[in-house]
Amino acid sequence: MDNNIVIPEKGRNREAILEEMREFGKNDPDYKNGKTWSLVYYLGEAYAQFLNEAGQMYASSNGLNPMAFQSLKRFETEVVRMTATLLNGDDEVAGIMTSGGTESCLLAVKTYRDMARKKGIKKPEMILPESAHVAWEKGAQYFNVKAVHVPLDKDYRVDADKVRKAVNKRTVMILGSAPGYPHGVVDPIEQLGAIALEKKVPLHVDACVGGYLLPFVERLGYRVPKFDFRVQGVTSISADTHKYGFSAKGASTILYRNMDILEHQMFVFTEWPGGIFASPGLLGTRPGGNIAAAWAAMQAMGEDGYLENAKIIMETTQQLIQGIGAIEGLEVVGRPDMSLVAYRSTSNRINIYALGDQMEKKGWHIDRQQKPECLHAMVTPLHRQVMTQYLADLKESLEYVRSNPKLSLQGGAATYGMVSKIPFRGMVKKNVLKMMREMYGPSGKALDFSKSDTGQKGFVEKIARLFLKFKS
Ligand SMILES: *Cc1c(COP(=O)(O)O)cnc(C)c1O
Repeated sequence: MDNNIVIPEKGRNREAILEEMREFGKNDPDYKNGKTWSLVYYLGEAYAQFLNEAGQMYASSNGLNPMAFQSLKRFETEVVRMTATLLNGDDEVAGIMTSGGTESCLLAVKTYRDMARKKGIKKPEMILPESAHVAWEKGAQYFNVKAVHVPLDKDYRVDADKVRKAVNKRTVMILGSAPGYPHGVVDPIEQLGAIALEKKVPLHVDACVGGYLLPFVERLGYRVPKFDFRVQGVTSISADTHKYGFSAKGASTILYRNMDILEHQMFVFTEWPGGIFASPGLLGTRPGGNIAAAWAAMQAMGEDGYLENAKIIMETTQQLIQGIGAIEGLEVVGRPDMSLVAYRSTSNRINIYALGDQMEKKGWHIDRQQKPECLHAMVTPLHRQVMTQYLADLKESLEYVRSNPKLSLQGGAATYGMVSKIPFRGMVKKNVLKMMREMYGPSGKALDFSKSDTGQKGFVEKIARLFLKFKS
């Protein structure tokens, strides 16, 4: 690709454009056949078409001004109310729709920082479990709130006693996840709630991935730790409609226990020449289509649809967990509370990243994690039809890795192994930044991972693929 890309001199034939666009996607991950285990929540073509139609209806409308598009205001209010009820909030609960989980998390950081400012806290800190989603680190950096990390216990839940000890007079919020993305485990929210009440500090529950699934899992009779507004001390919850809410991408919610907290999220500026400006979230223009499609998704799914999906998801996850348990040399990390499963090697003869490499050779899109070194899978209803194959491939790949120990010195396994041994994480960061400069530089280069590994450049590119988590 060269840099000299310009707007075509004359507008092109629309059919030809659409055809070319279809071509662009031909090497994208095969999510429609269940080959991806992150990023996409796909329920089949008919449902996707419905979401598209709902979104298109309002695609040109703008949720920026709640007084202009009454339709969008209504969709947003109803999505927030439906979610508040789902999460056992009362009539006082108030919130907004956002563009995604990250925006919801960022907003919580901003809200609690500003609330604390009013009380005179000048050097804000927030308490994050080590398993907190990376969006919280982003929030810490963007809003200048120091992240204080608290280790996990042996079950991969944040250690509540250590959280209590970490609270000080600069603490502006405590975070718990329901569940955390890396291990799929729900933090001890009830214990955190008690600490929050005792210390008079807000507690946010990051239910971005679990918010629209855990309530239904609970109704199915599975044991689900209490994580929502039933827990005293919980002051806000984020839940992503665009994950297990099965809406179109670009939609999430953030809910607060009452308006007095939400008020600190609002932005008002009265001196702009363009007029008096007020906005509830990070965005200015808010794409109406995503808001409308989220409402449509919840109407179309209904409680029965969410329950049915939750049932399939949980049964398929159980199949995965049991399947991994039955393979000698592998084990599940912790005890997942819903549908996110991390698994690792229990044998020094099996390099888990080499196993990931083999699975990719079989066409699966595999996510690698660190601390501990493991592979990761996020289960959706679509995976029911491929789980038997996935497990069979896992078993076969494992045997191959076991009988070819040199594999751990090749490909992704070697790179990952190397990276985890580099004492200076700063060097890794520098390399990743360099790669980001290449991807977002003037040539907007798509990194070519098929090339063989040669020298520094190859190293950088491999880090990009293996380390960066463009996950959802
Ligand atoms: C996905 C996720 C986020 C971030 O959401 P995005 O929609 O990817 O921005 C935050 N927290 C948790 C626990 C998540 O799983």
